[in-house]
Amino acid sequence: MILDIADLADGQELSADLCIVGAGAAGIALALKLMNRGLDVLVVESGGRRHEDDVQDLYAGSVADPTLHAPTDRFRCSQLGGSTTLWGGRCVPFDAIDFEKRSYVAHSGWPITLDELLPYYREANRLCEAGAFAYQIDEAFGRPMKPMIAGFESSAFSTDCIERFSKPSNFAERYGPELEAARNVRVLLHATATQFSSDDSGRTLSRLTLRSLRGRSVTVRARAFVLAAGGLEVARLLLANRTLHPDGIGNQHGVVGRYYMCHIAGTIGRIKIDRPTSAVWHDYDVADDGTYCRRRFALLSEAQRQHRIGNFVARLHHPQIGDPAHRTAALSLVFLGSRLLPWEYRIRVAGSDGASLGHYAHHFTNVMLDPQSAVRFAYRMVTGRFLARRKIPSLVVKTKANLFSLDFHAEQVPNPESRIGLGNETDALGIPRIHVDWRYSPQDVATVAKSVELLASDLKSSGAGTLSYDPGTIEAEMTRYGAYGGHHVGTARMGDDPRSSVVDRNCRVHGVDNLYIASAATFPTSSQANPTLTIVALTLRLAEHLQGKLQLTRSSSDKKAVISEIGIGGRDSASFGAENLLSKQLAQH
Ligand SMILES: Cc1cc2nc3c(=O)[nH]c(=O)nc-3n(C[C@H](O)[C@H](O)[C@H](O)COP(=O)(O)OP(=O)(O)OC[C@H]3O[C@@H](n4cnc5c(N)ncnc54)[C@H](O)[C@@H]3O)c2cc1C
Repeated sequence: MILDIADLADGQELSADLCIVGAGAAGIALALKLMNRGLDVLVVESGGRRHEDDVQDLYAGSVADPTLHAPTDRFRCSQLGGSTTLWGGRCVPFDAIDFEKRSYVAHSGWPITLDELLPYYREANRLCEAGAFAYQIDEAFGRPMKPMIAGFESSAFSTDCIERFSKPSNFAERYGPELEAARNVRVLLHATATQFSSDDSGRTLSRLTLRSLRGRSVTVRARAFVLAAGGLEVARLLLANRTLHPDGIGNQHGVVGRYYMCHIAGTIGRIKIDRPTSAVWHDYDVADDGTYCRRRFALLSEAQRQHRIGNFVARLHHPQIGDPAHRTAALSLVFLGSRLLPWEYRIRVAGSDGASLGHYAHHFTNVMLDPQSAVRFAYRMVTGRFLARRKIPSLVVKTKANLFSLDFHAEQVPNPESRIGLGNETDALGIPRIHVDWRYSPQDVATVAKSVELLASDLKSSGAGTLSYDPGTIEAEMTRYGAYGGHHVGTARMGDDPRSSVVDRNCRVHGVDNLYIASAATFPTSSQANPTLTIVALTLRLAEHLQGKLQLTRSSSDKKAVISEIGIGGRDSASFGAENLLSKQLAQH
């Protein structure tokens, strides 16, 4: 059932077994997994069914260096479905090495391994609608595949691993009907979680105040709470709530908000492949189930260890779109049409907004000089992207001269000085706004510099081609657009030691018996991989854990036992859950 807080009476108290804060990828995945499992689940969501300026403004905050990080209300969406209403759908699991404690990466090491996540990854792939969990070409395709570059050999890179693409599925559109029909899951829109309170002022949260921008306020009593509010907002909520600790919930050791990572990404160099165009394949492959997949250069774990650098992948890419010197009609058409794209995509496609008239004229000339290519490209764009249900992730443009640039996406290593804090201003609900101080480190520069150097060397030694670039520009290129947008990682990291982490291996906040986090905020390291598939996998794992913890038993004595097991003391256990105010309320709808 999906309801709006406006449907409830002001001051009303609701109750549920589990309250999930946020209905994005994580919140919706958790609710789906707990559907029909006997628990009474309430999902509270700040936004409504579509974008609203005043709700989105709750995300606004300040940034220490605006050249390094996008405004905080960009690259995330406050509405049902969260940022999946805007995401690109690239799905990639983390590699085994990402979970390891690496001597050369400070603060690395997860308390869980890839093997523990594998079963959940398979299910996550289904939820993200990215097809089978098969990320090597031999397992993804039941047929021989062309090599990415014929004759390219490398001891540092694999070209056999792929990334898969979601449709991209907007979780609100895709799973809204199921949530609407669910008997045990209720989604409450326009309900922003603001203040937690505790009955015993100790280790347990008992109530959460929800507020709307229209002045409605209701309270939720729940046996457990999950923050699924996105990697930035999770930290903000913990820091802004002083219920259990004066520095914020879970922040007794000052770790909340620290180790903030995005990814290091950029486009660099000029690659000339010395082979016929038919010997290069950098377009999408379509799996039997229709999923778009794409090959890339992936830095092998052994090479990472040998060179003491982070994880790294790169793709053969078209030349910089914004620079009309590429003289490619299709790329110029994209540049000219880029104003139609959401800001988050436009800035990477077209560079800054301030191009001169001459610049536009140059692109226009490119189109006029090769109108057939431009029309073909526009047709493919309309049919493959706008009209198709499973959208082609991007249109790969081939140049006759076998010329490319290198598009890379690299791990950012954890750095305690890169952090989320609270600013001095408050939002319309009186909550301190977020302040972002994102920082990269010399090791991040080294990861990109060494990886590009290795690739250039292997292209040359195998006779496949040349990668020319100016090593002095690495740092400028990897920060040209600042931190990679939309990937908000590490701000409530997972670990066994409460002095250096915020949640334990089950994503429970250290020192709090009934508060959990489902978000990239819990990732201790960032990998080369985009985060959503791993967010969903970890969330499904959390669902199983919560199911075990909160299993509803019908007899009140059993109920008492379960409640004491999860540490909720000082409550009238017989009346807990039996009087479900929300169920009663909603039954009338
Ligand atoms: C342009 C763009 C492209 C992207 N492309 C990719 C990609 O290709 N691959 C990939 O893996 N990832 C991608 N991402 C990232 C992806 O969208 C996120 O990783 C994912 O959506 C995070 O899921 P989440 O549930 O943690 O947070 P979100 O999806 O952000 O959802 C959080 C929800 O919590 C709600 N909320 C926040 N605070 C409160 C509160 N106090 N009370 C109640 N509700 C609250 C919000 O309104 C929101 O609906 C992209 C992101 C963007 C912006």
